[in-house]
Formats: sequence, C-alpha cells, structure tokens
Amino acid sequence: MFETVIGLEVHVQLNTKTKLFCSCPTSFNHKQNVNTCPTCLALPGALPVLNKEILHKAVMLGTAIDATVNRTSYFDRKSYFYPDSPSAYQITQFYTPIIQNGELDINFENGSKKTIRIGFAHIEADAGKNIHDGNISKVDLNRAGTPLLEIVTQPDMRSAEEAILYLKKLHSIIRYLDIGDANMQEGSFRVDVNVSIRPKGDDKLYTRVEIKNINSFKFIQKAIEVEVARQREAWEDGVYDDEICQETRLYDQDKNETRSMRGKEEAADYRYFPEPDLLKAVVTDEMMEIYSKIPELPDAKRGRFIKDYGMNEYNANVITSSVEMAHFFEEMMEQGISAKNATTWLTVELQARLKGEVNINNSPVNAQKLGFLVKRIEDKTISAKAAKEVLDKLMTENLDVDGVIDALGLKQVTDMGALETMCDEIIDANPEKVEQYKGGKEKLFGFFVGQVMKASKGSANPQVVNEILKAKLG
Ligand code: ADP
Ligand code: MG
Ligand code: ZN
Repeated sequence: MFETVIGLEVHVQLNTKTKLFCSCPTSFNHKQNVNTCPTCLALPGALPVLNKEILHKAVMLGTAIDATVNRTSYFDRKSYFYPDSPSAYQITQFYTPIIQNGELDINFENGSKKTIRIGFAHIEADAGKNIHDGNISKVDLNRAGTPLLEIVTQPDMRSAEEAILYLKKLHSIIRYLDIGDANMQEGSFRVDVNVSIRPKGDDKLYTRVEIKNINSFKFIQKAIEVEVARQREAWEDGVYDDEICQETRLYDQDKNETRSMRGKEEAADYRYFPEPDLLKAVVTDEMMEIYSKIPELPDAKRGRFIKDYGMNEYNANVITSSVEMAHFFEEMMEQGISAKNATTWLTVELQARLKGEVNINNSPVNAQKLGFLVKRIEDKTISAKAAKEVLDKLMTENLDVDGVIDALGLKQVTDMGALETMCDEIIDANPEKVEQYKGGKEKLFGFFVGQVMKASKGSANPQVVNEILKAKLG
C-alpha cells in the first residue's frame, strides 16, 4: 500500500499598478518591451526601490492564513542565466521571507476538514517572456519585475483531491482579498506540484518530482494521478531508484503523461546571497494595523449565510465559492428581499440563463436589477411565472424591470375594487353554477377562479381572487 505526498508552490501575480522595484506599469498586454526602464532591464547602475503596495498585499495574505508576518524581511539574489532575465539573477526572499508558518483549512464534501500548513510566502520578481516564433526567438520584458508572492505548503496533502481543494481555497482567498486576479489561463496563478509516494506507515519523505506549468485545476488533478501511477509502477517493478529522481517534469495533456524537462537544481546551484542593492523591508506597527484589515473570507461568509439566512450548506457553498457570486448575492439582498428568493433567482434562474458560459460579472442582468425583479414578486406586482418572462427579456435587452413589466402587460391586478367587480360579474353571469356550488358541489370553486383569471387575461392575483370568491360564495 502506498501513500501519496504532495507539496504545492503557487506563484500569485499581485495586482499592483506598478512593478516590484520600479515605476513601470504592470500591464503587459502592451506592445513588447514598452513597459520597461533601466531598473527592470537591469542596466548597470540602476537601483531597485521596493514598492510598498507589495508589503500591504503580503500582510493581507499573511493575515488571511493566520501566519507570522516577519516585521523585518530581506531580499536575496537567486542566480541563474536565462534570456528572459536580463540581470541573470532573480530578486527573491530566501533566508527571511515576509510570511511564515501559516495554515489553510480544506473542507471535504462530507463536512470534515483538514489543515494544510503553509511554510512560508515570499515576495519575488517575475521574469520576462521568451516568445518562439518560427526559427526566431524573441524576448519581451514587459513582465520582468512584476511582483509575485510565492506561497509554499508543507508536504501535507495526501491525494490529488486534497491538492485541488487546497488550490481552489487559496485561489478564492486571493480573489476575496483582491490582491491578484488569479487567472490561471493568463498565468497569474501558477502552480508547481511536488509529488512523491511512500509505503503507507513510513513517515520518511521519498524522492519527489516537480511538475510545472499546468494551467487548470482539471489538468493538475490528472497530472498528479498519472505521475503517482508512474511512481508506483516503478516501485512495484523494482526500478524506483532508476526511474524516479529529483527533477522537473512537464505534463502533456494530449498524451496524459509527464515527461522529464530538466534535472532539478539544488539550492546550492542558485548561489543565493543577500541582495546588496536593497534595504530590508520593514512593516511598522502603523502599517501592520492598516494592512491587516481584511474583508470577510469565504469560510466566515459561508458560516454567516447559514446562520443568519438559514441557507443550506450546499447553497452556501455555491454562493461563497466565488467572490463575484457572494458579492452579487449580497447586492441583491440590499433590495430587502428574502434570502431564499435571492438564492433561487441567482443560483437557478440567472445561472441557467448564463449557461455557465458568462462570468457573473458580465451578466447582462446585474445584481441590483435581479434583486429588484424579486422584490416585484414579493410585493405581488407580478407572479413568479411572469418574472421568468421578464428575466428572459432582460437577458437580451438593457431595459428596466418596471418598464418590461408594463410593456409585457404582466402586472397582477391586486386592486381590490377592480377584482371584486370582476368576481361579481362572473357570479352574476352563472346563476346555476352558483346554486350547484352552494348545494355542495365544491369542485366548482376552481371554475369561478378560472373565469375571473380569464376575464382579467391572467393579470389578476390568484390569491386575492381566491379570498374574494370565498367570501362572496360563502
Ligand atoms: P525547493 O527549495 O527545492 O523548491 P522545498 O523544500 O522548498 O524545495 O520544497 C518545495 C515544495 O516541495 C514544498 O511545497 C514542499 O512541501 C514540497 N516537498 C518537499 N519534499 C517533498 C516530498 N518528498 N514529496 C512531496 N513534496 C515535497
Ligand atoms: Mg521552491
Ligand atoms: Zn521598470
């Protein structure tokens, strides 16, 4: 019996306006190499200056994961040569990272949870990009010097499932804190997976491989599964020591296999040493006080929704799993509607119409509008059935709720006087039926309701019609 051991390193690109050590903008979708300066081009004599915004975001993360914030941290040089790094070293925090000893709980579907220890999180500068274009290779340095936070766990995860739960949780926390956009496709949430196996019961750590550059949760899961299978097979075939070595592997999603990319360097290969051009990074008491204020996180929000709104576990999970959904829901609630209706109209009606293709942020019907539509059901202006028609219309045209209700003639008549008149007319027009009803044929009640609804062309509020008819027919 084997046990899987996984440790994760995540590089989160921080959404600051300017780069880590210079004032170049961090938007790199511009023309190649325009967002550069002597500092991020590593021209001789140019000196880096730390962007304070980075400390703010790092402290926010540290607070969210209950970590120690090192009030004084330092920068180090990690030496390596690669064309996308003009300085031939990366500025990182090797000896004293800003964040240490944090933890994150992952929640399993059966309600149990597990704590994953986060050894440290450190600040570092991103490299540029190599672009291979036919037989020419180009270098774009717009991204060089962009701030990253590398978040490193202890080898605490025991399955692909646990790794994915951890990653989704971390991803959602980054989004809730709004310290990065965490877009996996665009590389602002990059995951390195370290995987090894060992005989169950053994607590030694065996040789691990690192799998890099997988850009979706689904493929991370598959990469882990296929790599674990490879290691197990090597063990069972008695060739573990020949086949499993500390190296960096690539996951090929077409072939569903991992392949050796390069041998993994040891720390000594990088010749880490303290960065002489930068001062230490200090977080003062005053900064700490301000930076450690963070918004409500997913777990707390989920608990609150369950407790305050009587929401069930499932819906609370769905709504808090993404910060956009949670905010959308809360904005709907500002209309003073019931949480139950807000939940249904968000998670069922709206989601069905967005078909999972459109991010809720780009929904043609915003939270304020959807909340107001629900309010119109609750104040009995329209029926729930009519509201679906209104929503269909709002999905394709940017109109206001009341305008659509009027235009489609969906307003329910709740005016007692008008409804009483209608009821009287129906009663007067059907004297025999009234006799039969009074004589005990109670089934006829539905006939009267139906006639009134028909006369009102469906606009009468059926509940009110029921009440009036009951009173009149005795
Ligand atoms: P390096 O400095 O070489 O990147 P670290 O000690 O910082 O190595 O570990 C990097 C990541 O690998 C961490 O997330 C750690 O938990 C994980 N890790 C270390 N050893 C193992 C192992 N034997 N199996 C799985 N993961 C491991
Ligand atoms: Mg590492
Ligand atoms: Zn610059």
